[in-house]
Amino acid sequence: MLAWALPLTLIVPNVWLDFTEHYTLLSCLNNIVTPMGIYLLVVSCCSKIGRTVLWSIPLMIYAAFQIVLMFLYGENIIAIDMFLNVATTNFGEATRLLGSLPAAILTVCAIYLPVIAGGIVMCKRKMRLDRAMMVRIRRLGVPILIAGVALYGACELTDSEYRAERQLFPLNVMYNTCKAVQRGVATSHFKDTSADFRFNAADTHPADAREVYVLIIGETSRADNWQLLGYDRPTNPRLSQRDDIIVYPKAVTQSNTTHKSVPLILSAATVENYDTAIYNSKGVLAAFNEAGYATAFISNQARNHSFIDHLGEEAQQVTFITADGREHLDSELLPVLQQRITEAKGKLFVVLHTYGNHFCYRDRYPRNHAFFTQDDNTDAERYNRSDLMNAYDNSIRETDLMLEAVITMLERCECPAAMLYFSDHGEDIFDDDRGRFLHSSPVPTYYQIHVPMLMWLSPQYVAEYPEQTAAAHAHSNCDVASNDAALPTMLALAGIRCDSVDYTRALASPSYIERPRIYLNDYNEAIPLARSGLRECDLQLLHNHQISHF
Ligand SMILES: [Zn+2]
Repeated sequence: MLAWALPLTLIVPNVWLDFTEHYTLLSCLNNIVTPMGIYLLVVSCCSKIGRTVLWSIPLMIYAAFQIVLMFLYGENIIAIDMFLNVATTNFGEATRLLGSLPAAILTVCAIYLPVIAGGIVMCKRKMRLDRAMMVRIRRLGVPILIAGVALYGACELTDSEYRAERQLFPLNVMYNTCKAVQRGVATSHFKDTSADFRFNAADTHPADAREVYVLIIGETSRADNWQLLGYDRPTNPRLSQRDDIIVYPKAVTQSNTTHKSVPLILSAATVENYDTAIYNSKGVLAAFNEAGYATAFISNQARNHSFIDHLGEEAQQVTFITADGREHLDSELLPVLQQRITEAKGKLFVVLHTYGNHFCYRDRYPRNHAFFTQDDNTDAERYNRSDLMNAYDNSIRETDLMLEAVITMLERCECPAAMLYFSDHGEDIFDDDRGRFLHSSPVPTYYQIHVPMLMWLSPQYVAEYPEQTAAAHAHSNCDVASNDAALPTMLALAGIRCDSVDYTRALASPSYIERPRIYLNDYNEAIPLARSGLRECDLQLLHNHQISHF
């Protein structure tokens, strides 16, 4: 039984993927026949079946991970970014997510634990397959593998886009693991590879002036739940009372995953040159350093040795309020920001990296700020959508409160000051019959890419820099790639000129131009957004918001 159970349980993700992925018929057949042939031959090669099962545990882990993702996203293989997400996600976040996916966890346990238990028992009892059984399995495995090889050849010959390392499970996931390790190693050498990079930044504003600029990177906030952007619930009770907020309703992110979107925001690299430039370029904090600013990076996310840490550490003062190992509310960033503002007598640039509206939403605000109730059921299940949405909306009210507090702080400075806020990506919350939840899936959705983006300029800034102010207003209804616009916009606001920065990407520059929508896919390829895997319903939603997808 164990000799048959092992190949049959290992092939479960392959069968599932054949239904969810848009493979050709030949590719679907190859995705089952070739691995099945290999599994049967492996089982037939060693009489110590218990040992074979235990050696197969890494394959079962791949299969289990894949099945959990199918529950979560409904499609797609485990992406390179997914491995990097796991590596850069803090332990508590990961276990909380797994704990909220009971159906997925029960399913993988029901499939794989009995096989592993059987393997352990066979090993302990030193039981072996008899010779006749091994021959029977081999006689089945050989023709199946030959058929698999023939199918592979047919895929290569008939489909110019077929690549086994993208469509054959678990080869594709092994390939992605190697790529993730490669990228992780390259990231760890970032400080060496970017050491020689210079912006040659020059400040065109008066040298002795007091100026304060704050870039706030949101987390997992989606435009659809912002009252400022037309949502019908009061999620922005404070910002919606103001008449000095410039909103960019057509802001779309170029990546749906934190560990790629945030580096795109901070770094001089763009989607077009990301795969090489991200290792060799410095970020917006380094540019402000060169221009003579005091700089600070204040984060409410855990350190994770990713580009986010490296680019944040370019600041002169770096504060991770999570350094005590606990989770904090974003409002706890505010005293640190106030301290930086008080300390810096001249020019100051601060990046705030928030935890924003990340799952588990209910943990993003204090209990007495729960405006929308019920919000107690946090399991990642469709039947909890009402509670999840209440909690998510409460978390946006908390972001609204924090942004208002930052603006109040900047107003008190009574100097040219600006705040730019936008989220790294959005979120799926069981919005349609796809049943999608969270973000970072290999294929994005409308809800994961349409992000809230807004700017606030102090009255003193408006008075002293009318050209930039007019540009910021004039482009408010333009198509914006949020990641792409961040660095040039901050530099343009501060009047910092750098030869290598393209100011036609800066919202606060009169030369801003709209560009074709580009998306950075899992293989770090810059592809047209329309080819990123968005479905017809996603394109329709973009169209409803007058957002171009090409
Ligand atoms: Zn994120």
